[in-house]
Amino acid sequence: MRHHPGSILLRCALLSMSVAALTLVSCSTLKLLTHGGERQIKHEPRLPAPGPYVLIFAFDGVGYDQLMAAISSGKAPTMAAMLGKPEGGGLYEHAYSLQNAVSILPSTTIAAWYAIFTGAPTAWNGVPGNEWFVREEMKFYAPVPVSVAEMDDNRAMITEGLVSKSLKTMTLFQQAGVKSSVSLNPVYRGADYFTVIDPVSMVTLYTEFLARGGGENSTEKIDMYENLDKDSVPKLLASINEHGVPNIQVVYFPGIDLYTHLAADPLPMEVAYLERVTDPLVAQVLAAYQSYGILDQTFVVIVADHGHTPVLRDPQHALGDDTNEAPAEVVKAAGFRPRKFVLNPGKDEQDYQAAFAYQGAIAYVYLADRSTCPQAGMTCDWKRPPRYRQDVLPVARALYNSNRTGKPVAKMKDTLDLIFARVPTPAGKPTKEYQIFDGHRLVPIWEYLILHPRPDLIDLDKRMEWLSAGPYGNRSGDILLLTRSGLNNPIKNRYYFSGPYHSWHGSASPQDSHIPLIVARKDYPSAKLKALVDKEAAPLPSQLALVPIVRALLASEPPQVPAAALPVQPPASAAATPAAKPQ
Ligand SMILES: [Zn+2]
Repeated sequence: MRHHPGSILLRCALLSMSVAALTLVSCSTLKLLTHGGERQIKHEPRLPAPGPYVLIFAFDGVGYDQLMAAISSGKAPTMAAMLGKPEGGGLYEHAYSLQNAVSILPSTTIAAWYAIFTGAPTAWNGVPGNEWFVREEMKFYAPVPVSVAEMDDNRAMITEGLVSKSLKTMTLFQQAGVKSSVSLNPVYRGADYFTVIDPVSMVTLYTEFLARGGGENSTEKIDMYENLDKDSVPKLLASINEHGVPNIQVVYFPGIDLYTHLAADPLPMEVAYLERVTDPLVAQVLAAYQSYGILDQTFVVIVADHGHTPVLRDPQHALGDDTNEAPAEVVKAAGFRPRKFVLNPGKDEQDYQAAFAYQGAIAYVYLADRSTCPQAGMTCDWKRPPRYRQDVLPVARALYNSNRTGKPVAKMKDTLDLIFARVPTPAGKPTKEYQIFDGHRLVPIWEYLILHPRPDLIDLDKRMEWLSAGPYGNRSGDILLLTRSGLNNPIKNRYYFSGPYHSWHGSASPQDSHIPLIVARKDYPSAKLKALVDKEAAPLPSQLALVPIVRALLASEPPQVPAAALPVQPPASAAATPAAKPQ
């Protein structure tokens, strides 16, 4: 019998009212315990632990250049003081900043945070975007919906850990095995505490955001995103007051990204937001650590998921504005029945042969083996991969021609930069890396780049491998479209898959992909930080290095023995007792 979730949610809500911070871990534990047959996660919060502590500021949608502009402007005094004077090469008086760290692909929120907090490439962790299709389950997931309107998965991500359930690798919190707490970030599996503002208002904020992409935005509504960031800090501090300082605390600010998508002049306005809103919030958290007397035992990390590129907010550039147009129309013209752009199509809408998932500058196209469902009304066998010649190639050609000539779909003309495809792998086998379709054949990315150098698409080969080659590589589709984007293109030539916004991301351009990754510590030699960070980030510095960096920081200094645990009598032989000394 299926358990009815309503009663549990009610109990969770009642439980949450009894503590200052809404502690969803208790709720999910309750939920898990009542779901017979599911793997239970036994969850006993760990006792307060001695240092060192790692405090991670996770800034959503903050490119490297925007953060550095804010820090060097003099208007973000807390972050500037945290780093200290710049000494060149990414070194600061109290910090080390990786200067060339990149995001994964797509440079998009949900995929990037799952990569950051697992350290695993997307084709291995199973979370490839803001939305995606799992062909074996014939099911669409949309934790942050882009091509569909329903908010059900967004709600389920925040209140029930929906995305974590499809996650295939361990999180930082599971790997590190220390007392951890997460504020707002959807990746919280294995943490002791997860603090949020009221989940209902969080979902309302996202709904408003999606509904208003095309509308005019009043200042008052934009203020909501500021309040999302601001309101999260008292919740996480209340949780610390109640349960002690965790060894890992994640402080996630999603409002920056939502704000920037809607800001009329996105990049300067984002910098101003970092100065006006974010810096004082960082100050509040650091002041709390100072008041606990542990700031000098705390490594402070700043990381972001992706940057932002300004785009034109009109239906011509928003290729997902009318989902029945653009790629779906091309695929239809190539003889495929497209999936309806809804979270759950009706019983009589299951005969689709192609599905789509949008990630801003990137779109995934999933294709069925059409021989399993030739007639309308027949459900395709999605467990089987498509056939290369009969299914993949016709669609790749149709998209290529529409982009080049505007036929059969005029809207697609000159909108795409690259079309990726690959020979499908048998079900259950790890997928191969995407290749580039040059109009005739598939060319390995490295080979294509020798003939057509693209320094504006950074580390394209390696990052496409992370996305597409692995046990869950088929979650990024059978064909992948990359729009023309990047600051090197005039704004009138930048395109994106979603409704209209002022700013988007998702591409391999430096502006979308170059992210901050900074480690700071009060009164601590920054050369030591550099050595540790460089070692973990080699050979290709990226956000995948966060997990190994944090684990190395925790291990770099054996925890001090708490005063109460020290022996009263000195040991008879000092040599017989290994001392736990800070290095
Ligand atoms: Zn984001």
